[in-house]
Amino acid sequence: MINWALAAALILSALPCRADTIAIVGATVIHPERDLPAAVAPNSTVIIKGNRIERVGPASSTPVLKGATRIDGRGKWVVPGLIDAHVHFFQSGNLYMRPDVADFNAVVPYAKEVERNKARLDATFKVWLASGVTSVVDIGGPFWNFEMRDAALASAAAPRVAVAGPLISMIERAKLDLGDPPIIKIGSPDEARALVGRELERKPDFIKVWFIHQPGDELAAQEAIVRATGDAAHAGGVRLAVHATELVVAKASLRAGADFLVHSVEDEPIDDEFLALAKKNRALYCPTLFVVMGYRYALSNTWQPTEAERRLADPQILAAMRDLDQLPQDKLPERVAKAMANPPQPKPSPIALQNLRKVWDAGIPVAMGTDAGNIGTLHGPSVFREMQIMTQAGLTPLQVLRSATTNGAKAVGQDVGSLRPGKLADVVILDADPLADVQNLSRIHRVIKDGKLFAPEELIRSISAKGGT
Ligand SMILES: [Zn+2]
Repeated sequence: MINWALAAALILSALPCRADTIAIVGATVIHPERDLPAAVAPNSTVIIKGNRIERVGPASSTPVLKGATRIDGRGKWVVPGLIDAHVHFFQSGNLYMRPDVADFNAVVPYAKEVERNKARLDATFKVWLASGVTSVVDIGGPFWNFEMRDAALASAAAPRVAVAGPLISMIERAKLDLGDPPIIKIGSPDEARALVGRELERKPDFIKVWFIHQPGDELAAQEAIVRATGDAAHAGGVRLAVHATELVVAKASLRAGADFLVHSVEDEPIDDEFLALAKKNRALYCPTLFVVMGYRYALSNTWQPTEAERRLADPQILAAMRDLDQLPQDKLPERVAKAMANPPQPKPSPIALQNLRKVWDAGIPVAMGTDAGNIGTLHGPSVFREMQIMTQAGLTPLQVLRSATTNGAKAVGQDVGSLRPGKLADVVILDADPLADVQNLSRIHRVIKDGKLFAPEELIRSISAKGGT
């Protein structure tokens, strides 16, 4: 007996009529993995079928099947979905998420802010997509991070998320411990192996070490802890990410097996030994140039939203960035009162900029990352701040875009980051040329993630409707 319904469905799916197909017709396609002039393909058509890119070619020879969702690409630019290789969902970017740095418990209890932030997760996912960011790496947080990754997977309007669990740390951060701490102090290689074991059960994408080296600490003993962590992670098939901001600490991390340095070296110029170690490990380097400035602006009440942040950030967080206008003076943490009396003028670290250039020129893959969630570094549109500062290191817009796509894909570990047939369909359509100015990456017309189409203003409208502050 013939199942007619099934037969009809089979015939329908074979006809040249595609409800699951998107065609972007006649756009300028940017291939960030290529150099100029091959990186730019004007008057091109991109065909997306299901959640994969099916075809990219000249508009004249790339037919669009009937029934496809057709997007007029004339006067538009198409780039791969952006990737932020360093974020933290357990932090919201507002003032109240780091009582270990600035304690506002007297104003907003940390526990209350953690609950608010968790309840707001869907909105946080949406601001990432609205900013054209289709993948992020959450490089350390509580065990809750693994539930967050599940929530992102289950939601259509969320970026792809790679994740690390609690930081294997050299120091304690008691104020952040509400029962599921993001940072756990480890005193020996054995303790490190035990914690890695607990994290591996949750199938992390990275194991992360918070390598804080203070005067009086024995570097060799700390390096042994990092090596034990790295060996255990690698035995479990997981890469090792390390926070190391000084040259000696970064080199110790690489000797101990680091695959991913999640910050700039910012205390002194990197040297040939560093470059050789990074190459040997095929390590990724994530500069995070803005995050320190974000703290300084926010904690002195001089933080101002950029034009992109006004459009694309979570309105609830944006409003909270003005809270210091109203808080009573006697409730402020001492460092905040001091900073407000004498506001700093934050600038990117000149050594970090210089080192970014050196790392890039040496051919070490640089992955753009913001450290979003930290105070003053907002989820989503802070990527445009970060990319602007990267150009101050002398990187061209094309190189910055490569760091935020093709190189970022190496951190995420998924089949994304370029516009080649067969790749996952994460695509951003822009109203302005990103190679003329990296800020044009914020001029987003549409975002496609996993083959699904989104309009940024609709994403933001949907979260604004859920309540302002
Ligand atoms: Zn971080």
